[in-house]
Amino acid sequence: MMSIRSLAGACLSAFAALGAFAVPASAQNYPTRTITMIVPFAAGGPTDVISRIVTAHIAQTLGQSIVIENVVGAGGTTATTRAARAANDGYTLVTGHMGTHAASVPLYPKLAYHPEKDFEPVALLAGTPILILARKDFPPKDLKEFIAYVKANAEKVNAAHAGIGSVSHASCELLNSILDIKPVGVPFNGTGPAMNALVAGQVDYMCDQIVNAVPQINAGTIKAYAVATPERNPSLPNVPTTTEAGLPAFQAQAWNAIFAPKGTSPAIIATLNAAAIKALDDENVRKRLLELGSVIPASANRTPEALATLVKNEIAKWTPVLKPAT
Ligand code: ASP
Repeated sequence: MMSIRSLAGACLSAFAALGAFAVPASAQNYPTRTITMIVPFAAGGPTDVISRIVTAHIAQTLGQSIVIENVVGAGGTTATTRAARAANDGYTLVTGHMGTHAASVPLYPKLAYHPEKDFEPVALLAGTPILILARKDFPPKDLKEFIAYVKANAEKVNAAHAGIGSVSHASCELLNSILDIKPVGVPFNGTGPAMNALVAGQVDYMCDQIVNAVPQINAGTIKAYAVATPERNPSLPNVPTTTEAGLPAFQAQAWNAIFAPKGTSPAIIATLNAAAIKALDDENVRKRLLELGSVIPASANRTPEALATLVKNEIAKWTPVLKPAT
């Protein structure tokens, strides 16, 4: 007969043996096939551009290709819902951002996912300062004139955005509430197409992530009134901060990050996080991100835990700002 003690010992070693096999074979070999990265906005916009720059390097590290799938609609929430419901096997990921994983919470009372409960954070990719932009021939010359003009013409002006809950929508809601105006919103499937409309003079102004704006500002095809961060951005040394330009209350910086469906194995998350960190340390990846004005996260902000904290804090930050707007 087995004594209680040896029975306990046998159970323990059985558990230990189980533990050794707890990582499924699929996670141990991961990845063995193409990964799909869902981008919740149109191709050519800021989330798409950042995602492509970083995932190209991650794919090299992992030795498998990563296919970008642009799934548009409802300010990025359609795609993010799809990602939340995807198999949690590491083969479907999403590049979410301040909109899909924070601003959408107060704006969509029936949001089909919760950014904290339905995803495993993988890695923060880039911070993206927000700029106040306008079509080239919009009359105001600087931010002070812009403020006076949009207040005086509140019924006439319109603002492009990438759908309710997108970064461009949420950050301009903040701007508009500071200025106490309610312009007509013109929604697009991403700020890629919204930027085309701004360049073509079809819409008046837009709050957009820097990555989408630097090439156009440098080409002189749009106006930039201010960057909504405490410091000027090195990629746009001539664009004043909102504080310098007379609107210190408007501060906004977005961010883009990789998420996996809830329950994706810790081993897969660790593999993806390590590959993302490697990408962020690569000279060419850094160069491309910095040229476009991105803020590359410091080491301490690159862990899944740091991203979880960011999501929590951003939901808390944006909820009171956006709740009255609904
Ligand atoms: N990030 C979006 C895009 O890539 C736009 C937005 O959220 O404003 O188009």
